[in-house]
Amino acid sequence: MITCVVPCYNEEAVLDRFYAEITRIAGQMKKVPFEFLFINDGSTDGTLSKLRRLAGLDSRVHYVSFSRNFGKEAGIYAGLQNASGDYVVIMDADLQDPPDLIPEMYHAVTEEGYDCVGSRRVTRKGEPPVRSFFARLFYKLMNRMSKTEVVDGARDFQMMSRKVVNAVLDMGEYNRFSKGIFGWIGFKKKWLEYENVERAAGETKWNFWSLLVYALDGILAFSTTPLVLASVLGLLICLAAVVLIGVIVVRTLVFGDPTSGWPSLACLILMMSGVQLFCIGILGQYLAKTYLETKHRPIYLVGESNLEEGVLSGKKYTGKREAS
Ligand code: UDP
Ligand code: MG
Repeated sequence: MITCVVPCYNEEAVLDRFYAEITRIAGQMKKVPFEFLFINDGSTDGTLSKLRRLAGLDSRVHYVSFSRNFGKEAGIYAGLQNASGDYVVIMDADLQDPPDLIPEMYHAVTEEGYDCVGSRRVTRKGEPPVRSFFARLFYKLMNRMSKTEVVDGARDFQMMSRKVVNAVLDMGEYNRFSKGIFGWIGFKKKWLEYENVERAAGETKWNFWSLLVYALDGILAFSTTPLVLASVLGLLICLAAVVLIGVIVVRTLVFGDPTSGWPSLACLILMMSGVQLFCIGILGQYLAKTYLETKHRPIYLVGESNLEEGVLSGKKYTGKREAS
């Protein structure tokens, strides 16, 4: 069985079209049973009622609805935890991930001996040029700074065998950066390439700022290089200081004039306090992530689901008194 995991956040406008497309593909692949597992990530529109309706019409449709918006990464985790298929494919609800690739993916994992089939878009058509520029820059930086490979243009759209799903689930960290996690686990992966498709309806949940924060989170989660920066900067500045001291001693001995130069001193103090605060800031970022990680909070909370009790993993709050 193939489970399609679909994180949805305010996707009311596109859900019916998505469902039509995915069932068309499922119809083409008659030999393989499908499960459609929608994760409602705290939508504020009619997404949940749409999912309830779909689940009523089609017994292959399952949904897990979060108690609030936990983010797409949590949605993916919940999907993988609750998927009952032998193969799992993660897809966006907005049809930016072409469902027509699923048969090819299935062929690769069943016949060609791959554990996982990823997809990457080779163009960024329809995206603002500034965003593409910074996205490219991010992938370059990330791959310089981290041993984990993060492939440029890689989407979350991929099919995984059970083995890979279980490996991802074992990475139970709270700060989840999926692109890094999928790279970190390894296994034999095939890449399918396709041209960027624009969202079928509805709106993207990302703006420039949230993408920047996401990029920084990714670097913090999979690289400790920024921490080295402080030591390197410190060393460089010490070297510069030694050279400068030499220059000033010689100059004073040759020309006299020991008291001039306080404006440069003021500039130096300003610069040095800046560098120090910057480095403390980097430390603080890592500390903050560690702090959140040590709290061991659940990655998501379930408010509602049509999965049976016992099948549903993740905590569902029912209002009943719990036996302790
Ligand atoms: N999504 C989610 N939770 C969020 C934000 C997004 O589950 O907090 C889902 C969204 O419903 C969609 C997928 O993640 O199915 C990708 O989101 P979007 O299309 O906004 O991102 P983009 O394709 O622009 O990168
Ligand atoms: Mg999208």
